Amino acid sequence: MTKSRVLIVEDEKSIADTLIHVLESEGFDVQWVTLGGDAIELVSQQSFSLMILDIGLPDMTGFEVCKKIRLISDIPIIFLTARNEEIDRVVGLEIGADDYVTKPFSPREVAARVKVILRRMNFQNNNLQENQSIVINDDRLKLAQSGCDFLIGEQSLGLTTIEFKLLSRLFEHSNVVLTREQLLDACGYASDVGYERNVDTHIKTIRAKVKKQLPDTELIKTHRGFGYCYNSGSSS
Ligand code: CA
Repeated sequence: MTKSRVLIVEDEKSIADTLIHVLESEGFDVQWVTLGGDAIELVSQQSFSLMILDIGLPDMTGFEVCKKIRLISDIPIIFLTARNEEIDRVVGLEIGADDYVTKPFSPREVAARVKVILRRMNFQNNNLQENQSIVINDDRLKLAQSGCDFLIGEQSLGLTTIEFKLLSRLFEHSNVVLTREQLLDACGYASDVGYERNVDTHIKTIRAKVKKQLPDTELIKTHRGFGYCYNSGSSS
């Protein structure tokens, strides 16, 4: 079995060192860079399973790095944050993060989060392979070969991991209204973690991404006070 590759983007050597140490001892293949620009270049050239991204970097903020990465990759991203005001933005997850940890953190905790995310991704990929026949039956959306994105025509939507999970769950239950709790559950988050209000943000982003390619189609309908549903187009 090949090792999962983790990319660490952190300019403080001591923090990077503790992370490298714990992740390597957990069997990961770790690469470390100190600049956002280097991280973007690496992700565009090589394949990583996950990225740990510091927000305060010398050349650009972690938010900017994430935005640029999201144009080319749906790699899961765990943010390292140092300040409370950063946490708000990360928790909003509008920038496409999968998780975050605040400094100072325990390296073991970070390693545990990494493992949870990778497990979730494997689980989701296996599930999707089983569902592939259903997915292909829709004439608008197609599962991308990577198993973690959808295509409209030949164009990928560029969904983040969490957006992909939300849309998959909605899709699997076409024309059924799902509550925010049910949708969070699909993403592997317990609804008491406080992510609930972010479902709306994610749905908004998914809609914007769909709209770029299908301007006149409403794939996801809002049912005020209840939740959301995938509109298969056959019942309305
Ligand atoms: Ca830093």
